[in-house]
Amino acid sequence: MSPVIVPFVDLQEQYERIRADIDTAISSVMHDGAFIRGKYVTAFENDFAHAYGARNCISVANGTDALFVCLKSLGVGNGDEVITPAHSWISSSEVITQAGAKVVFADVERDYYTTDPLRIAEKISHRTKAIIVVHLFGQPANMNAIGAIAHENGLPILEDCAQSHFAEVDGRRVGLYGTAAAFSFYPSKNLGAYGDAGAIITQNDAFAKKAAAYARHGADTDNKHDHKIEGMNSRMDGIQAAVLSVKLPYVHQWNALRRLHAAFYNELLDSVEEVETPMERAGAFHVYHIYQIRCRRRDSLRRFLAEKGIATAVHYPVALPFLTAYEYLGHKAHDFPVAYKSQSEILSLPMYPELAGNQQRFVVDAIKEFYRTG
Ligand SMILES: *Cc1c(COP(=O)(O)O)cnc(C)c1O
Repeated sequence: MSPVIVPFVDLQEQYERIRADIDTAISSVMHDGAFIRGKYVTAFENDFAHAYGARNCISVANGTDALFVCLKSLGVGNGDEVITPAHSWISSSEVITQAGAKVVFADVERDYYTTDPLRIAEKISHRTKAIIVVHLFGQPANMNAIGAIAHENGLPILEDCAQSHFAEVDGRRVGLYGTAAAFSFYPSKNLGAYGDAGAIITQNDAFAKKAAAYARHGADTDNKHDHKIEGMNSRMDGIQAAVLSVKLPYVHQWNALRRLHAAFYNELLDSVEEVETPMERAGAFHVYHIYQIRCRRRDSLRRFLAEKGIATAVHYPVALPFLTAYEYLGHKAHDFPVAYKSQSEILSLPMYPELAGNQQRFVVDAIKEFYRTG
């Protein structure tokens, strides 16, 4: 295999550009010994809430914990069902089982990869306790329709914003539609730490209090030895918080660059009939965590690109209902036809803010060569 010429993401390149500020921030945490909670974590919670326009931000150890803490704070437990998309990362479903409830998958919209409102409506039962919506790849879900269904059935929406920091639809940020939203700051996300980190945002103060208590061993916010309930230990560390506070002001610029790169890929791929470029929902500000194409002979194309030194990925090779972990649910391909068909057609091309135009040309030239010669 050739050396990597176009990586899938390039975190070093970004670090080099902001190195002085990052190194200073990390030294300050070391100097102050503020390793767990403390002023850097509080500062980031305030910065993120403010930047997002959210009333409350509760930092946690990672995005999966953020989802789990939200489900527990919504009172999800034994005997309940929670609806979640058939096409996502497993965090969006495993937290339901961890909370003691039953995972109910709903198929996604072919063009947008987010849950189809009609499929959600079909899956609602008297046991349904909540709806998890994932703004997958940076594309906002159909919040108008899903919001109406949730409202009609008196169900809370939990937004999984792990891939959609600052995405918008109809002029409103994702994460501000539901009762609460979960964010991941895994290093390669649109806003990424240098390790694991996550957060919950909510406009609901009572929910915020519950979530904060649950993530801090069930302790009262003002008295860490007053445990009203059992909870868990999920906390962001000071170094990650300091890194995130340095990176936060850049996120709009980075999202704008991702959008520009997406538009350039679209233009370059326009003439390639074997490739379908990603759609943007009307009224959406897609933030392209992932630039996803549908293509013919996906696996051969992927190997061909790898030989040229182009790194690609598949998000995800097996849709959630068809994973071994969910065999016990007994789902068949025709239960989720859209998610099933997507899994063999989708391919994620290199996408990160620092990606250069000549790298994108190199990627698309290779794709064209594959279809011309293959
Ligand atoms: C990354 C991701 C998560 C989980 O985040 P972690 O910080 O890795 O736990 C949850 N949902 C989706 C859709 C993700 O992409």
